[in-house]
Amino acid sequence: MRQIENFIAGEFVGAASGRRFDKRSPLDNRVIASISEAGMPEVDAAVAAARAALRGEWGALTTEQRVDLLYGVADGITRRFEDFVAAEMADTGQPSHVMRHVFIPRGAANFKVFADVIKNVPTEAFQMDTPDGRGALNYAIRQPKGVIGVISPWNAPFLLMTWKVGPALACGNTVVVKPSEESPHTAALLGEVMNAVGIPKGVYNVVHGFGPDSAGEYLTRHAGVDAITFTGETRTGAAIMKAASDGMRDVSFELGGKNAGIVFADADFDAAVEGIFRSAFLNTGQVCLGTERVYVERPIFDRFVAALKARAEAVKFGRPEDHDANYGPLISQEHRQKVLSYYARAVEEGATVVTGGGVPDMPGELAEGAWVQPTIWTGLPETAAVVREEIFGPCCHIRPFDTEDEVVNLANDTDYGLSTTIWTTNLTRAHRMAARVEVGITWINSWFLRDLRTPFGGSKQSGIGREGGVHSLEFYTETRNVCIKL
Ligand code: NAD
Repeated sequence: MRQIENFIAGEFVGAASGRRFDKRSPLDNRVIASISEAGMPEVDAAVAAARAALRGEWGALTTEQRVDLLYGVADGITRRFEDFVAAEMADTGQPSHVMRHVFIPRGAANFKVFADVIKNVPTEAFQMDTPDGRGALNYAIRQPKGVIGVISPWNAPFLLMTWKVGPALACGNTVVVKPSEESPHTAALLGEVMNAVGIPKGVYNVVHGFGPDSAGEYLTRHAGVDAITFTGETRTGAAIMKAASDGMRDVSFELGGKNAGIVFADADFDAAVEGIFRSAFLNTGQVCLGTERVYVERPIFDRFVAALKARAEAVKFGRPEDHDANYGPLISQEHRQKVLSYYARAVEEGATVVTGGGVPDMPGELAEGAWVQPTIWTGLPETAAVVREEIFGPCCHIRPFDTEDEVVNLANDTDYGLSTTIWTTNLTRAHRMAARVEVGITWINSWFLRDLRTPFGGSKQSGIGREGGVHSLEFYTETRNVCIKL
């Protein structure tokens, strides 16, 4: 069993209180790690270390020196690629191909891409007239915001945490990260990489623990934290926003979703089935951008439901390293209870269960894991809880539609506004629809494909702010104007 400590000022340290908590494997519920739970003293120490680094060696680096170090971090991750894959698989139980081809490479890319962004930021300048005819020159400079609190979730732990740490460090800030209690491994491993590649002590700190009355809340309330970037549930975001209002600290929020998938009759049928299958069921449905509401144009509705059912029933449950398996469990027993309660609720609300709705039979010790069947429903009204609330599991409700206006209204009738995936071969309609759906990102004939230089974030209750490429600079830097009288 692995012992995981907090990472403060370049050292792995336990909590003064001696408090620890267990991480259980989603595969079989075995305890796989014991983690030190940071209290107020550790959060204080982490924030102080981050402040000291800002005022010391890190703050004194040139942009080029910082960029070189961040390339070093990306290379350091790549050198320990197998360790990161193993650590992430241990925490999430997800198949190794997802870790190998998406989650871990994207973690390394998050350092490279933002190093490149910061090297190429232009300066805004305005020459203005003055009454004496000599004029004045205004130009903007960007300075680091300071100590950034990073609070991250468990569903793609390394990718989502580095998506914040990469730009924060590229912009010259220092960070204190609070990873999810369900996924502590890769944040700890990144501390080892930071030391190995020579990142100054205190630039990257990690405090482990939970949210309320634990490291998460202590960090968001800490007066020494200048801004908070958070990825997680909408209601957690609301609690963090209240905490951040003390001291008027800035927030960037990537929150929940209840995303629509829209399939027109003119779509490439097989590509649409495969695309909706991925968007509803990848990572066992634990993707904020996932599709839990599917709308299919009536002429192809029955055929589409049958094809998606066949695809969902073909998944092979198993351990990440099992080459025949392509489907993992949910993150925890607690999350499984939540998802299964929605499975029961759907039936109570009158759904037709097309497939799934329960727990698969798993052999031996896997029977103790957090497994659930991919589940498809039809026949519910749009007012049903499973059509309105984010479930964050491998499930979707499919409903027929007849017109473009109708489906736009259905897609937009939600408190959330994160993403939409639209399947059509009509290019004009694709552009028209993209402008009408109220979300931060629209995919046409694709899903989960994104250049890291593009703006990312959600509308409505799915988030505040945009990160990605130069858009990340808005949050991670303070822009100051300098005006020189000529
Ligand atoms: P969560 O909100 O339960 O927890 C996220 C993090 O916040 C964890 O580290 C947790 O310990 C911490 N936390 C909880 N309460 C806190 C508090 N009061 N103060 C400070 N920290 C607190 O979310 P989760 O279950 O880990 O992740 C799933 C959720 O994340 C889903 O809603 C999903 O849609 C969302 N998500 C959004 C995006 C996006 O980009 N929009 C990406 C991934 C996940």
